[in-house]
Amino acid sequence: MSEKIVAANWKMNKDVVESAEFAKELSKKILNVKKTGVILSPPYTSLFNMNEILKDTIVSLSGQNMHFEDAGAFTAEISAKMLNSVNCEYVILGHSERRHVFNESDETIKKKIDKAFASGLKPILCVGEKLEERKSENTAQRLETQYTSAFEGVSEEDFSKCIIAYEPVWAIGTGETATPEQADEAHLLIRKLTEEKYDKELANDLKILYGGSVKPHNAQELIETENIDGFLVGGASLQVQSFYEIIEIVENYLT
Ligand code: PEP
Repeated sequence: MSEKIVAANWKMNKDVVESAEFAKELSKKILNVKKTGVILSPPYTSLFNMNEILKDTIVSLSGQNMHFEDAGAFTAEISAKMLNSVNCEYVILGHSERRHVFNESDETIKKKIDKAFASGLKPILCVGEKLEERKSENTAQRLETQYTSAFEGVSEEDFSKCIIAYEPVWAIGTGETATPEQADEAHLLIRKLTEEKYDKELANDLKILYGGSVKPHNAQELIETENIDGFLVGGASLQVQSFYEIIEIVENYLT
């Protein structure tokens, strides 16, 4: 895995043509990016075409979600096998919009995590507290519950493949960003949970991305913290220029 990672979550944005244009433009811009891993999570309808366009680039593809069953009567859902068939390496699980808009529970997310590992997909598990949880000083407890539930019974080998994204719910799409200190503190907690459950090596190697209104103007101060290994970017990933500027900040920080 790359030293640092910048991942895009496009949510319900961009049709097939818009996605293809973005992929072509971005792949030209990132020819000199060597140390930063780049992941794109477009809508499902764009995955097949983007896989063709991006196959000789450093960009990996990710699903934005996935069902835990293999197949069947689950209208509008997508399976791990389907994501595999378009060459997805990753799948975002437990995004705050899935948790809070679509009422996905920790139990449901756990089933998805297990299915992803069993199918060779690397989960990008999103964890994060709501504003009232932060205000009532329950952030650590919420993160620990989400972490413990997701990784119960997960082997060291599987765990080593996953990425965790810390995304405080109050900072997603709001223009509010966690301060570098707040983000670093949460990331450190996730690293400590990993050290307690697994070991120091896995804790050090774990990639923990920060997500929540990351933009070119705040990426530098965030990447300079000790425990932030990159970003999961929503709004600013929709324009090639702003997404590339964030990649550039991370790449320059590494060189
Ligand atoms: C996200 O959707 O994961 C996200 C972090 O969005 P934004 O960057 O727009 O806050």
